[in-house]
Formats: sequence, C-alpha cells, structure tokens
Amino acid sequence: MSMTRKRNAKIVATLGPASSSRELIADLFHAGVDVFRLNFSHGTHDDHRRRLEHIRSIERDSGRSIGVLLDLQGPKLRIGTFAAGPEMLETGAAFRLDLDTTTPGDGRRVALPHPEIFAALKPGAALLLDDGRVRLHVEACGEDFAQTTVRVGGQLSERKGVNVPDVVLPLSALTDKDLADLEFGFELGVDWVALSFVQRPDDLRQLRQLVGDRAAIVAKIEKPAAIDALEAIVAESDAVMVARGDLGVEMPAEQVPAIQKRIVRSCRNAGRPVIVATQMLESMITSPVPTRAEASDVATAIYDGADAVMLSAESASGQHPLDAVRMMNNIIAQTEADPYFHDAIEASRAAPRAEIADAIGLAMRHVTGLLDVCACVAYTSSGSSAMRMARERPLTHIVGMTPRRAVARRLALVWGVHPVLCHDVADFVEVSEVACNTVRREGFGRAGQIVVISAGVPFGTPGNTNLLRIAQIQ
Ligand code: PEP
Repeated sequence: MSMTRKRNAKIVATLGPASSSRELIADLFHAGVDVFRLNFSHGTHDDHRRRLEHIRSIERDSGRSIGVLLDLQGPKLRIGTFAAGPEMLETGAAFRLDLDTTTPGDGRRVALPHPEIFAALKPGAALLLDDGRVRLHVEACGEDFAQTTVRVGGQLSERKGVNVPDVVLPLSALTDKDLADLEFGFELGVDWVALSFVQRPDDLRQLRQLVGDRAAIVAKIEKPAAIDALEAIVAESDAVMVARGDLGVEMPAEQVPAIQKRIVRSCRNAGRPVIVATQMLESMITSPVPTRAEASDVATAIYDGADAVMLSAESASGQHPLDAVRMMNNIIAQTEADPYFHDAIEASRAAPRAEIADAIGLAMRHVTGLLDVCACVAYTSSGSSAMRMARERPLTHIVGMTPRRAVARRLALVWGVHPVLCHDVADFVEVSEVACNTVRREGFGRAGQIVVISAGVPFGTPGNTNLLRIAQIQ
C-alpha cells in the first residue's frame, strides 16, 4: 500500500517516553509525521534503537519512506552542585563561578567545570543560567574564575544549563558523548544528523569529515555567533533548524521572529531545507487544544515557506502527542488551502542565479504555469535535483524519484517532495516512462495529463541538474 500526502510543508516529531510504542508511532506517522527526531539529550541507546526499529517496520508496512533525524546534544554547559539544595540568588548580590568541583556550591559561589568558558570570558559579558531565568554580569575573570553581579535574581538548582551569548567559545560542537552517539546512529542507519550549538562553519566541516555520505547534516541555529555567520553556515549544511529554544535564551525573545524569518529566507535562497522548531504547540503538552497564538505561529512558518515544522516535548513527553500531530497537520492543510498562501509563496520565491540548475528550475516553473501539469518529477540519485525543484516552490506536486533508499528517506524532510523509491534506470527514455507510471500510481495524475521531469545527466553526479523533459501520461 502506498500512502500519499498532499500537503507541501513537512512535520518533524520528536519521540520520547510519551511516544515509544509501535502502535503510537504508527498512529503519529499516519496522522502526518514525515520525519521522526531522536533527541540524544535524553534517553538511552536502547530506547532509541527500539524506536528506530518501530519506525523501520512501519516504513516497510506503509511503503512510504520515513526520515529519521538524530539530534546530538552538543556542548551543553552546566553548573555544578549545591551543598544544601537550591539557592536563592538576590538581584545585585555578588556571585562567583570557579573550577572547584570538589566543593559543593552555596549562595555565594558554584562550580562551572568548563575551563574553556573562563578562557574566553571578558568583563562585561553576560552569563545566563537555567534557560536565562538567572542573569549574571561578569565583573572580573581569570583562567579559573569569574566574579559576577547578579543582574536578574532567582532560585538556582544544581546542574542547571549555562548560556554565554556574547562570546564565541573555543569549544568543539562535538563532545565525546556526541562522537559515541554518532557511531551508534550510523549503526542504526539514521538519515539526518543535527549538530547543536553551531558557532562557525568549521563546526559543520568537522562533522562532515566524520559523517561522509552516511547521513545528511542539519545545522541548529541557536547562538548569536551562528547568526553572524549565517550564510556560510547555511552553505556548509544540508539543512538548517531554527532552534528557537536556546536561541530565545541567547537572544532577546523580541528578536527571535525577525531572526527566524531571516534564516528561512537565507535557506530558501540557498535551496536548503529549513525546519522551524520549538514551542510551536507548547500548550498541547498538557492541553488537547493549542492557543490561538500557537496555531498562528505554525501558520506563519508555513506562509514563510519553511520546509518543516517541528514538535518537541508536545510529542516526546506531552499528554497529547497524537492530537498535537493532527493539529499541526490540520493547520498546515488549512494554511496551504488559503489563496493568500499561494500569493505569499509567489512573492517570496528565491530569485534564480545564473546557474544551469536554476535555469532548469525556472523553465520548469514557466512550463507548469503554461500547461496543465499534474506533477513535477525529479529523478535524483543524490537528492539535489529534487531539492533544486523544491527551491522553486512550484504549486504542483513534486515527486522525488530515486534508486537510493537513503536519499528517499532524506527527501521526506523537503518541502513538497513526495519521495518514491525506484529501480536504477538506464537512460532518460526509461526515466520518463517510470516517472509517468509513478505519478499515475501515486495518484497525482491520470492518462493524458502532463508531467515535467528534471534530472542530471550523466546520472549519479550530485549537483548537475541539466535536463528538463515534458511528457504526457499514456
Ligand atoms: C532548541 O533549542 O530549540 C532545540 C531544538 O534544541 P534542543 O531541543 O536540543 O534543546
């Protein structure tokens, strides 16, 4: 049985304790999930292995490629412990951080076991604790301490997270835990690997060296330094996530909407899939319906042309994971049915660059405007022809036809692309035949209708989309 979704934007849902059974994962998939996220900040390898086995078994039963995204924890910084439970830090008080992990903290100091932070800190920098609830101002610092003033006080418990927004930290984006998780992910056969706390393009190059072509890479944008180097980071990645959780800690909340739009625009220009993530339907962690503001937030990402919207705790640990996916699916469907959605996509389309692949994309879009085209098909061995096609945001179905299972799974994340696995084809005549048959079989068109097909010849060379064919379904 083949399952065809008709919407363009995709849904990424995080799996966790609330969504680990095969039955529920299958329900989430049938309700609309295109890519499942395994969040390696939580859970054991065994937990993730079981979830992945369920996903692959659901994939076999449904006949539809499902993407799996491994999200690496990255260098999450944390303070040490307190001797007598949580401490109240009063605004205006002095507070010291140091490397002494053998002495538990109190109301005047706590350990921060990260020498790299002290090496990079400067007086005047801000230190944000517990997702920004407590804010410290650095007065003086050395290689093993920082003397601070509490700017925003509050209760602080042990092992809380630390963000240092003003400083590029001399830290690798990959910790020892990440390296072990990565090896485990390769063993499982994940499709996408997300890198947390990216600061510079080099972080992605380092990951690429380890990953090779075993998976595609998502850069999570959650630090001001990454925003400063946005275009270069987008260029080094295969996809990007607007990770609004940590981004909203490191940057003032009121700046996040404009940054989100800038990241989406930059990715659409570069033809990289972009995921808008975190707190999209946050209240559905405990409530069966979202707030109006949350519904509007999801719709805004869809109007902006984001490739995917993501559920985090809503599906991983919330009380209503299935309702959250259904709601997201409905919001996307309603938004894409709005005539203004078409205008918004039309108005925000990325301009073509003077490149062969863009010329093909432009021609494809003109053809779809002129003729009654039922579907555009990209025959793609690396996925790049399908991504080029998606960059055009054509208002007709896109079929990503590929002989590589890993590529079909990766394409599950891409705007509008319906991935279909096919056998290796010998020449472009055969591509046309297989494309027309696929479009008919998947329910996108019928005999007599027009299909536009793109590919790169010779087959198998990524990034050489150079051929456009118009065919009629027989
Ligand atoms: C985020 O910070 O928004 C995010 C997606 O990352 P994580 O959930 O891993 O903190």
